[in-house]
Amino acid sequence: MLRTGSDYLEALRDGRKVYIGSELVEDVTKHHAFRNTARSFAELYDRKRAAENIDTTSYQEGGERFSSWFLMARTKDDLRRRTETHRRVANWSYGLLGRSPDHVASFVTGLALEPDLFEANRHGFGKNLVGYYDKLRRGDLFASYVVIAPQGARDPQMYQREGKKVPTLQVTAEKDDGIVLNGVKMLGTATVFSDELWVGNLLPLAPEQKGQAVTCAVPMNAPGVSIWARKSFEDYAVSEFDNPFTSHFDENDAVVIFEDVEVPWERVFLLDDVVMSREMYFKTPSHVMGNHQAITRFHEKMKLITGIAYCAAEINNVLQVPAVRDTLAKLAALEAGLEAMIAGQIEAAEKNKTGFLFPNRRQLYAALHWCTNNYQQVAEIVRELLGAAPFQMPADCTVLADARLRKTFETYWSVAGTGAVDRFRFTRLAWDYLGSELASRHGQYERFYAGPQFVNALYNFFNCPWGERKAAIAAIMEGMAEPTPKVSLGAAE
Ligand SMILES: Cc1cc2nc3c(=O)[nH]c(=O)nc-3n(C[C@H](O)[C@H](O)[C@H](O)COP(=O)(O)OP(=O)(O)OC[C@H]3O[C@@H](n4cnc5c(N)ncnc54)[C@H](O)[C@@H]3O)c2cc1C
Repeated sequence: MLRTGSDYLEALRDGRKVYIGSELVEDVTKHHAFRNTARSFAELYDRKRAAENIDTTSYQEGGERFSSWFLMARTKDDLRRRTETHRRVANWSYGLLGRSPDHVASFVTGLALEPDLFEANRHGFGKNLVGYYDKLRRGDLFASYVVIAPQGARDPQMYQREGKKVPTLQVTAEKDDGIVLNGVKMLGTATVFSDELWVGNLLPLAPEQKGQAVTCAVPMNAPGVSIWARKSFEDYAVSEFDNPFTSHFDENDAVVIFEDVEVPWERVFLLDDVVMSREMYFKTPSHVMGNHQAITRFHEKMKLITGIAYCAAEINNVLQVPAVRDTLAKLAALEAGLEAMIAGQIEAAEKNKTGFLFPNRRQLYAALHWCTNNYQQVAEIVRELLGAAPFQMPADCTVLADARLRKTFETYWSVAGTGAVDRFRFTRLAWDYLGSELASRHGQYERFYAGPQFVNALYNFFNCPWGERKAAIAAIMEGMAEPTPKVSLGAAE
């Protein structure tokens, strides 16, 4: 079933416990910190099922229709359909909803391709996982995830000295009907807006951290779950004109606290295995499929940023300057290069052991490395092209509502080819995307969404066929001449 935007909004009114500062939010869909972004997510659901998109953004199986991000790919065309769906979702949200409903769903779909891995952990867990995947796709549910332990977990001795428990999330009891969780987990991007929360570990655990090795899922309104949202940027948007993106696309990030949260067995997928608790994402196509969404979204962002760069050059009347053209050419090349990296992942798709296709692992990690390392430089280049324009504009758009001031504004702020109001509109758009507090958060997001850089580097290191690379060097060395005492190169007979 493909649900409507209003079904989605209705589901958000489920009594979930969201704190914004000390305030307990009664209704996420009505609160000024969240309501517009909630509507933006709802709009994704409506656009996905609209006649012009439905054939791409969904697929049919057994007479039922499901969102394409749940599609288990058997052909390259299936993969193309998944990618095009990610692309449209990112396009509709300007690349600003990193954890849109297609992100975690892709992780879960990748895991569900290999249920045996979970069955090997405990009898029944493989079935639980497949059942959960099916529940998500049948309900067209939106899951976010918390897969990182809090910094406080890094010095367990400190807590032991004080006779306290380490605050990170762990299993505190196993009962006949399920497990009990206590502790904290981070960082739930879009968790305020999701239906479900996936709980797991994307960073390694030490052997003694068995209690933390739990992978499960909880509904957002599960008793004992509280969501501590960060500052809402949406709440501080001046107006839709002044902050066109901040006012509607602040997906928020939240720390999630678990206090005696009871999780029934059918929602538990792995326990006690510190290695597999992380490895599950890499031994299956899960991590690759989830991050394929991330880089496809990033590419939509690159296209928009490149557009901002071109418009800035045009409005600032510097398009004819060779150095500016060089800069634009560089951006265009980077954007097209990323598009090629995404397409290449499908052309060189890999098959998992149960016979399903997924994007090429090495190429995905190369693109991820590129995206996470280059966003700030790209943003910086375009901010430079904007010059001082963002700071020449009036404090807010109320100026335009005053006939006398508007006339003055139109007289003095217009430039060749662009009227003052359009220039105002463009600079607001550009600065909200690249310079605002939302933009700054995006800089951090693009750097960290897939974990810290040293970990991203390792994905590339470990997946490179170094043996082949070494063998090629060894073959050349084998064919090289024996060392001779005389240098004969170029010497006359
Ligand atoms: C905006 C945003 C959204 C996020 N969304 C999610 C989400 O949806 N779900 C989720 O689970 N997580 C999410 N995260 C969390 C993200 O995965 C973590 O921030 C990331 O793994 C880094 O962990 P940390 O913040 O604890 O940094 P730390 O581990 O404390 O690292 C701090 C700094 O030290 C460096 N460092 C630490 N150890 C080493 C080392 N051994 N070698 C070299 N350098 C090192 C790091 O590179 C980093 O620069 C999000 C983060 C951000 C910023």
